[in-house]
Amino acid sequence: MRLWALCILVALSAPAASVNSHAKVSDDTQASLLALQRDDQRVADIAWRIASRNADSCAKLWASIGVSLQHVSQYAPAYRAAAQAAFVLDDSYPSILAVAEGSPASAAGLKPNDTLRAVNGVDLADKSWGKKSAASYDAVAAAMAALEALPEQRASVLSIERGSQRLEVSVTPQNVCRSRVELAPGNTLNANANGLVAQISGRLVNWVESDDELALVIAHEMAHNLLGHPKRLNEKSALSGLATSLGLAGKAQRQMELDADHVGIMMVARAGYNYKIAPDFWARLYANAPLASFLATTHPTTPTRRKNAQRVVDELNAKDLHR
Ligand SMILES: [Zn+2]
Repeated sequence: MRLWALCILVALSAPAASVNSHAKVSDDTQASLLALQRDDQRVADIAWRIASRNADSCAKLWASIGVSLQHVSQYAPAYRAAAQAAFVLDDSYPSILAVAEGSPASAAGLKPNDTLRAVNGVDLADKSWGKKSAASYDAVAAAMAALEALPEQRASVLSIERGSQRLEVSVTPQNVCRSRVELAPGNTLNANANGLVAQISGRLVNWVESDDELALVIAHEMAHNLLGHPKRLNEKSALSGLATSLGLAGKAQRQMELDADHVGIMMVARAGYNYKIAPDFWARLYANAPLASFLATTHPTTPTRRKNAQRVVDELNAKDLHR
């Protein structure tokens, strides 16, 4: 079955679940790999701040410790040796790519490049991947799922390898808004959400001019997941067939985009980012959108989107004045 994802710019492309941006490194120097890790860290920090500071009002919560992981199999074969050298990546076990600032993982002292060997005694080795096979995100997705299934409000034990040290680290997950957020492949300005995962393209992370702008993108995609939009769109497309983007689903999707902007701007405000830039930012992003004519069927027009964002900003400004 084809899964339809909601995107900021280019509609109806499925998230690139099988390949991570690290498989698309254009040169294999350690410097470029380390730059990608810095982008991952930035996305993790902003996503955690939004997810944790909105926990009181999120319809969907989950227990999270605030890390993202990587695994050697997510790299294309040509880049694996460089990645293993840059990050001390194990052949079988995942390792920590980023530890979000202010998260339980950070408080517990977990660090990027720690090898994660087991969770509550369950071994996380994945030896099933083939060394010659293409990049696959399966191993890291399975390890992320193990972390996302940790019991709420109870200490779990992570078995860590750090250099020559073996550590047992106790960490208690925190309830935050439910959405995995990750840096994704792609040289286009894009971001998407599939119900569980929000992906922001590497190009978009480097195109935005501030953390406030990146927060707007991340919160918009998280809002799609929290509002259950991808599932609803899939149901609509199953009912109405392939012409959906021109018909029912197109109309429904345009409203979903406005709703995700609305909720996203509120989430950004609660997380303490500058929400007032939202109307100009969405207009500027749209002006740089690829495939603008195609977008018209599934996304609101720029004036509509700007007006919608301005209305939310005005509401928030009025609340600020009455505080
Ligand atoms: Zn969207």
